[in-house]
Amino acid sequence: MGINQQQLIAQFPILKQQINKYPLVYFDNAATTQKPQMVIDRISSYYTSFNSNIHRGVHKLSQKATAAYEQTRIHVKDFINASSSKEIIFTKGTTDSINLLAFSFGETFIKEGDEIIVTELEHHSNIVPWQMLCERKKAKLHVIPVNDKGELLLDKYADLLNKRTRLVAIAHVSNALGTLNPVKEIIDLAHQNKSLVLIDGAQAVAHLKVDVQELDCDFYAFSSHKMYGPMGIGVLYGKKDLLEQLQPYQGGGEMIESVSFEKTTYNELPFKFEAGTPNVADVLGLEASIEFIQKEGIENLAAIENEVLNYATAEFQKIDRIQIVGTAQNKASVLSFLIDGIHPYDVGTILNQFGIAVRTGNHCAEPIMKRLGIRGTIRASFACYNTKEEIDRMVRAIHKTIEMFG
Ligand code: PMP
Repeated sequence: MGINQQQLIAQFPILKQQINKYPLVYFDNAATTQKPQMVIDRISSYYTSFNSNIHRGVHKLSQKATAAYEQTRIHVKDFINASSSKEIIFTKGTTDSINLLAFSFGETFIKEGDEIIVTELEHHSNIVPWQMLCERKKAKLHVIPVNDKGELLLDKYADLLNKRTRLVAIAHVSNALGTLNPVKEIIDLAHQNKSLVLIDGAQAVAHLKVDVQELDCDFYAFSSHKMYGPMGIGVLYGKKDLLEQLQPYQGGGEMIESVSFEKTTYNELPFKFEAGTPNVADVLGLEASIEFIQKEGIENLAAIENEVLNYATAEFQKIDRIQIVGTAQNKASVLSFLIDGIHPYDVGTILNQFGIAVRTGNHCAEPIMKRLGIRGTIRASFACYNTKEEIDRMVRAIHKTIEMFG
């Protein structure tokens, strides 16, 4: 491994605690990651020394807060290699980014009979806003199916594309199964068909280098809290010429150029999409999380996670009663599984007794569970602070669970 993992783990104060008298093993990173001290400190220093509303103050604190907020926008632009900071819109998170897009894109571009494509693997956040739009506009939603391993069937995708297809909305990495989708290929095919593409990057940005210009995606959404940053803040990236054409999502302060009862005109990008007082503290926390990832090197973080995922997969394959759910060729940091004859909820409960945090259930992805003929899974999802020793502890706890349940 390229970096000293102990030094990395030491930066996360929450991990020092014991749960049920065992050192905490946190394997619920797809739900939310833990935060390094530098993120916690950045948020605290904002409230301690320069809390102030931004963009409209002439006083020192407001100027300082505005500069820090706008500096973060530039930092996010560089992090995902957007071509302009005007293409970076701060939102509450991935869900908010997708709802913004579904409304604004829908109002601008979707007419009766138009089509939108999603996949069978999506999180509900990348299904329901499109269903709501289709209902509003009498448009149609189509779904790219998967094979039994949880890989998208690209030939079926090609069949679905047609001249009515306006948008393809697809996860970069599946939160339920860990499948890493061939997004570049999907984007190229969509563009050949003159359709636009949104990538839901909630499970990708902390695990692999994202370059929106290289991908050539039209929109990209992600959440800070899944990349070591705070909750309540996220990003919608969009190509400038497209964002400029879209209707605003919410009306209010900041998003306007001028207001009168006769006619209101809207502010320029990105402010047109940021109505109201923004979440300045958590924007600054997001910047600290980007600094954390860049300081450690995303390739180094990904190398740790891949090693842990491969090790866990190999260890699980040795246990007869375990069935791994989601066996795609390309995966990132998620291991979903079932234990024959034991309910996932019971497994999660026993693992918790050994201080191990996993998630059980359908992972907000009911359609893929239904496709695989199951109700849910147990999901272990990894981050840079997870180790092979922790996998050994989970394996021992699973053997104990199997003994207990017979
Ligand atoms: N998409 C994917 C793939 C996710 O994993 C999640 C979070 N589990 C979301 C969207 C929604 O993200 P948030 O709850 O941060 O808005």
